[in-house]
Amino acid sequence: MPFIPTTQQEMKQRGWSELDVIFVSGDAYLDHPAFGVPLLARWLERHGFRVGIIPQPDWRSREPFMVLGRPRLFFAVSAGAMDSMVAHYTPARKLRHDDAYTPGNRHGARPNRATIIYTSRLKEAYRDVPVVIGGIEASLRRFAHYDFWEDKVRRSILLDAKADLLVYGMGERPLLELAERLRGGELLADIRDVRGTCLIAAKGELAAQPHLGGEGGHAVEIPSFEEVSADKAKFGEGFRLASLEQNPFCARIVLQSHAGRMLVCNPPALPLSEREMDAVYALPFEKAPHPGYREQITAWEQIKTSITSHRGCFGGCAFCAIAMHQGKTIQSRSQASLLAELDALAGKPWFRGSVSDIGGPTANMYGLSCGNPAAMKVCRRESCIFPGICKNLLTSDKRAVSLLRAARSRNGIRNVAVSSGVRYDLLEQQSGYFSELVGHHVSGLLKVAPEHLAEHVTTVMRKPGRKSFETFLRRFRAENDRIGKRQSLVPYLISGHPGCTLNDMLELALTLRKLGMQVEQVQDFTPTPGTLSTCMYYTGIDPDSGKALHVARSDREKGLQKALLLWHLPDEQRKVQEALRELGREELLAVLTPVSAGAARSGRTAPRPQSPGHKSGADSNSKSKRHLR
Ligand code: SF4
Repeated sequence: MPFIPTTQQEMKQRGWSELDVIFVSGDAYLDHPAFGVPLLARWLERHGFRVGIIPQPDWRSREPFMVLGRPRLFFAVSAGAMDSMVAHYTPARKLRHDDAYTPGNRHGARPNRATIIYTSRLKEAYRDVPVVIGGIEASLRRFAHYDFWEDKVRRSILLDAKADLLVYGMGERPLLELAERLRGGELLADIRDVRGTCLIAAKGELAAQPHLGGEGGHAVEIPSFEEVSADKAKFGEGFRLASLEQNPFCARIVLQSHAGRMLVCNPPALPLSEREMDAVYALPFEKAPHPGYREQITAWEQIKTSITSHRGCFGGCAFCAIAMHQGKTIQSRSQASLLAELDALAGKPWFRGSVSDIGGPTANMYGLSCGNPAAMKVCRRESCIFPGICKNLLTSDKRAVSLLRAARSRNGIRNVAVSSGVRYDLLEQQSGYFSELVGHHVSGLLKVAPEHLAEHVTTVMRKPGRKSFETFLRRFRAENDRIGKRQSLVPYLISGHPGCTLNDMLELALTLRKLGMQVEQVQDFTPTPGTLSTCMYYTGIDPDSGKALHVARSDREKGLQKALLLWHLPDEQRKVQEALRELGREELLAVLTPVSAGAARSGRTAPRPQSPGHKSGADSNSKSKRHLR
């Protein structure tokens, strides 16, 4: 199927003089289901709409926004696969110089706060054409939210962008319903009840319309923008109340007043069924960047041999936005659909036989679901596995095991890696998947995300604690011994998370050292919009317990926290010494010191302590050892 038109000439090639919906995107156009805008464009196209995409328009004037003319129904705006501020700045608020979603990896192809700027240009160009905003930037900024880059509470992005409607979460259902109703002759101003959308209503309008929370309506009002801006406790309360309304089967409308105007957040869209997921991924994507691009696009290189098996995550980690965006319900594709995609990949002339990933937000959640439909319909738990695994969760790995076995025996497929993260606490109940994974699908390094190991920090993060990690590590090493492989874990860790002190980082560093692990990369916590951790960062309070939390805010403390985990790197020694002096633990200087520059370069995780049968001195992380199958 030809690419979605991006120029008038491409429209003419399809015999079109006018489009129904025009997407404006902050990313380059990569025609692949891993990217929201192409996926939704193909989805609408499948349902008979004429669709175009304007990728990365120059926002300094309105003309680039007019290249495809005026759409019959609406413009759909997305900042891209990432929030534009997250894409542009480091956790230290320094400008990044690259952009994986732009040809040539160049920075500067989209503006800061792209959703707002794009909408403004579109309104200058076509004042009377509706603009619908969506994507992760709009989705996670749908309520009044803390903005780390301005260090203040901002209004709902719907008001700041002056758009007509906001689609949050996964867009297939809301966008299609909207397009169909507009095509049927309804006016956008009259469409107030689409799940997965937010709109602005006048207070008088609410009273007259029960479905918007007026008298007899089904709504919850959270503290207003003015209240959450002035009072951190109110901010926390608002966040908690909104978080409780994420289950599409029982969520109420959430209202939030902004200077007398009401933000109306309709309940989330219902999850897609397996059949619907299969239909989405069977859309006729070209699986290639638009042919107009001459330079390499990093994001494309990263995903071109990966397969998405499912959406959603029921982990509920505090720092993660997936629950507020994709939702907690796992939406899996059928094995037949996934194998068909693998076969198509195997047929590509550039494919060399290696699949870089088969997974989703958490790889070992494929095919899982709640086993108690009645409980699920009223469930307000934000995690199905924290603080313990819910008795209603079906954790059988049967489907996931069958998928991995079938995938690696497919014609044209030499190997299949699982590089999406895995939840190791869940893996304790999935021995079949564990064996398949370690035996066949780890390219020498398995990514896991303990994020921390100090108990009270992992509790704040809603992650499994140290005991669970150590159990997994023992099991991983024993399995490698059993099958005669030398593979390592890549532990993903966060420094500077709310609740984490310098002392906690020291405890983490000493624990990892004891376990024979070194890390080369530590994620400095970034308060991205819309997460529980960001709420804690801003308020200094854990909204679950109401207790005050330590929050590392200064660059100095953040730097010291991070350095403690990187103690084996010579460049970090000055900061490590400073941290140990501050903690009055100078006696550890001799312990947290690089043995030699060579040792410090030995890899992302140190080879585990030698066990019988391993050749001494072998580096399990060297490139030549990465593909051991
Ligand atoms: S009842 Fe348990 S398994 Fe089901 S959705 Fe709620 S927390 Fe998850």
